[in-house]
Amino acid sequence: MKAETTPRKFYELDLEERLQEVRRLSGLSPEELHALAGQNGLTAEQADHMIENAVGVYALPLGIARNFLVNGREILVPMAIEEPSVVAGASFMARLARPLGGFRAETTPPEMIGQMQILEVSDPQAARQRLLDARAELLEAAANTDPVLKKYGGGPRDIEVRVLEDTPIGPFLVLHLIYDVRDAMGANAINTTLESLAPLAARITGGRVHLRILSNLADRRLARASAVFRPQDLAFDRFSGEEVRDGIIAAWAFAAADPYRAATHNKGIMNGVDAVVIATGNDWRAIEAGAHAYAARSGRYTSLSTWRRDAEGNLTGSIELPMAVGIIGGATRVHPAARAALKLMGVSSAAELAQIIAAVGLAQNLAALRALATEGIQRGHMSLHARQIAAAAGAEGSLVSRIADQMVKEQNIRAERAAELLKEYNQPESAES
Ligand code: NAD
Repeated sequence: MKAETTPRKFYELDLEERLQEVRRLSGLSPEELHALAGQNGLTAEQADHMIENAVGVYALPLGIARNFLVNGREILVPMAIEEPSVVAGASFMARLARPLGGFRAETTPPEMIGQMQILEVSDPQAARQRLLDARAELLEAAANTDPVLKKYGGGPRDIEVRVLEDTPIGPFLVLHLIYDVRDAMGANAINTTLESLAPLAARITGGRVHLRILSNLADRRLARASAVFRPQDLAFDRFSGEEVRDGIIAAWAFAAADPYRAATHNKGIMNGVDAVVIATGNDWRAIEAGAHAYAARSGRYTSLSTWRRDAEGNLTGSIELPMAVGIIGGATRVHPAARAALKLMGVSSAAELAQIIAAVGLAQNLAALRALATEGIQRGHMSLHARQIAAAAGAEGSLVSRIADQMVKEQNIRAERAAELLKEYNQPESAES
């Protein structure tokens, strides 16, 4: 009889073996794999073309979340993040979503909002009406500023005009240009169009166009994801599936009702969201700004996700947030690791990327709620946290795990203790005996 060996799990492989496994599953070339792994990623020369006063590049850990099934497609999710437990949490929750079909996700059209502030208008209400009457002329002028975007089916869709009455400098006009940016994040595209439109808007209103800039509250460009979890898949240790489900719903209700809790709840969501946004070279400040502004859209800051029990007793989760990410432009095409990350996911549109990111945010949210509602967040965190502390104290190689394990055993995970242990373990053998 042949001896059977259980194949090792992804997390049990070493770094090189994981890369080979990613290669096997994704078909990335060795060069792309190395770029993803940071081995021949962004160079200082490339960085010098991206920002001012560049002196080099800055690295972050890059992990691959497993088990993601989004709209029926298997996806390896690249996550750039320095915080322990995030990649494991997302992968684990993605696995729990699989029995009932994984994540379903969708997006609204990639419409961004460009804002124009128009000052010194003598009769703002009348000027507003003149702008609305000139809608067709404004849209036509905006349509011709970006021929490439036009070719791909993007361009202006509408205008909105408001009079902001109650401001510290008195009333002024705000024009919104609704602009379909297709597969771009869209900031440059919109800002350029707004600038070219400004003289026309000034002429129509008789005012002075002041700011011309996109809004990061991209509330017309939403990504939504949902998933259903069976109670039996949520059970663990001494906690029944029903207990975990109800605990998660109660934890969500706290975030839904209280901004202090909602901020931390949404931060957990953004742990997953930002990690993919960063890995793909997208602008995470824009995503953060959009998410939190959207969470406060009712006037009271609240949860970006919703957790409920369905008629069959399953746990259902859903999330909705602005998702202004691109697969064209910005750093997405310049950064070699970002290019490899997009290829790894096999995304062919910004919408598809946005859907995956929303699914990761939902998975991450569940990971945090499940831990908080049961054993508390620290237990799962502890061992990786201890490894970080050990490494920060100067431990290298096998000493990292040895010191981390000892600190976890002692339930004393502190820098001082790590330093003591490092000193102790670094003593020559003879000194120990
Ligand atoms: P971009 O200008 O580099 O690329 C977009 C352009 O690519 C389009 O205008 C179009 O001409 C072309 N293009 C080619 N194929 C396309 C396709 N399939 N779909 C859409 N466009 C296509 O980038 P961007 O997305 O306009 O701007 C993103 C950058 O702007 C990011 O680096 C971001 O950090 C930065 N930014 C952000 C803000 C903000 O968020 N407030 C402000 C200013 C700049």
